[in-house]
Amino acid sequence: MIPFLDLRAQYRDIEDEVMAAARRVLESSQFVLGPEVHAFEEEFAAYCGVEQAIAVNTGTSALHVALLALGVGPGDEVITVPLTFVATVAAIGYTGARPVFVDVAPRSLTMDPAHLEAAINQRTRAIVPVHLYGQMADMGPILEIARRHGIPVVEDACQAHGAEQGGVRAGSMGELGCFSFYPGKNLGAYGEGGAVTTSDAGLARQVRLLRDWGAEEKYVHSVKGFNYRLPELQAAFLRVKLRRLERWTEARRRRAALYDELLGDRFETASEGPGNRHAYHIYAVRVSGRERVQSRLHAAGVGTGIHYPIPVHLQPAWADLGHGRGDFPVAELATDQVLSLPMYPELTERAVTQVATHLTQAATLQIA
Ligand SMILES: *Cc1c(COP(=O)(O)O)cnc(C)c1O
Repeated sequence: MIPFLDLRAQYRDIEDEVMAAARRVLESSQFVLGPEVHAFEEEFAAYCGVEQAIAVNTGTSALHVALLALGVGPGDEVITVPLTFVATVAAIGYTGARPVFVDVAPRSLTMDPAHLEAAINQRTRAIVPVHLYGQMADMGPILEIARRHGIPVVEDACQAHGAEQGGVRAGSMGELGCFSFYPGKNLGAYGEGGAVTTSDAGLARQVRLLRDWGAEEKYVHSVKGFNYRLPELQAAFLRVKLRRLERWTEARRRRAALYDELLGDRFETASEGPGNRHAYHIYAVRVSGRERVQSRLHAAGVGTGIHYPIPVHLQPAWADLGHGRGDFPVAELATDQVLSLPMYPELTERAVTQVATHLTQAATLQIA
């Protein structure tokens, strides 16, 4: 059995440090916005190459407060992509703004800059490219268009801890970057977590206010804020894991290189674009007859996932946006074809080889 994801293997490697971190927090009896959160914020900011990181309780909250800090609200439009986890679009909705979609590019499956300019109008208040699967969106042209129109960029880097483009880290190219520490992400808490990154002191101050009830001084609320705080325990766990993130990312990249080598001739794979450092949160391939290929793999003991089976513009919850099939054809075709293979640092090379063999067999049966 080769599971799609195995968090227990990682825990076994770091158990002693995790337990020591938990004891440290429990002994201190300081559970909210204490020294662990403070230290984690400094360490994560340094990791991302930004001035500040503000820890929050989820990646969704990170997106929500990042947009609010920019002043996004009702009557505004925010541009993003339909091929993402629903949270990207939900966070835009929370502000009262309208999500506007731009299709993805066929190779990268991230925002296609060729369609971006046509989606911009006087109501556009922010652009949210998504660094899907761990690879950064095409930030050069996206930033160029955004700057020309004076529109801020919020990176959805929830899948892209440690990804780079032109040697620059995810979360440091836009006005703000948003990260998730959901357990299955490349940097995952033992529970929920998130962070906003920025090098703009004014935006950082606003995000800090919004995550903790808009209060600079206890019981004096200067803005309408939220309880979006990251618990001390999670910050302590994340600090243990952050120290290993580079090693784990390199391990993911080696597994991906082996998949590329074994599958690259037969399948369109989640390959790394020029100038990119792909963090391989997800390793996806395109297959035809995906449902049958997937059930054959499961029968062979190989766990897989689909990211994502339905693009957000076709989700029932977002029907009020008025979209239909055919509006974003590249995203739609991808949702019919992508299949995510097992990918985590502890996955053995032998397992990668077995997955590749089973996939090749399953896809061959499909054609026969
Ligand atoms: C995981 C994820 C989020 C949301 O993060 P949570 O911590 O689960 O709230 C947002 N956007 C993308 C692209 C994600 O993968």
